[in-house]
Amino acid sequence: MAFVITSLCLRDGGCMAVCPVSCIVPGKPETEWPLYYIDPNTCIDCGACIPECPYGAIFTLQDVPSAYVARGGEVLSAPVGTPGYNQPLDTTTYEGDPVHIPATCVLAEGEVVDLTPAIQANRDFFEKGPGYEALL
Ligand code: SF4
Ligand code: SF4
Repeated sequence: MAFVITSLCLRDGGCMAVCPVSCIVPGKPETEWPLYYIDPNTCIDCGACIPECPYGAIFTLQDVPSAYVARGGEVLSAPVGTPGYNQPLDTTTYEGDPVHIPATCVLAEGEVVDLTPAIQANRDFFEKGPGYEALL
């Protein structure tokens, strides 16, 4: 099993703080890699990150929803230039530090979205992401 962070992530960093093996990293540059990402090769499947996420962005691989039904008001983030993601958002980390997310959209109640593209994006980040290489 592996765990995946989806586009519901708003970079508050709480998951990274509790991960016992430090396998969660923030994507950089944020305009291209707006989420935090979980290294599937070092994740030990402990599940500690899931309850730490205030936005419910983390799922087990098999549970990433292909038809997520919005309660309304959830914010999705995406790489800059993604169609429909036109709103920047200023928020904070779990420690209160400022976070600027360049490209977001807000879901309406009952809107259905596919969150599974995050699975491949997570793979791509660790296999070829320029942001990941910059962290090494
Ligand atoms: S499941 Fe555990 S090891 Fe894997 S990313 Fe979450 S906190 Fe880290
Ligand atoms: S706790 Fe949730 S919102 Fe915060 S960085 Fe992790 S996945 Fe993103």
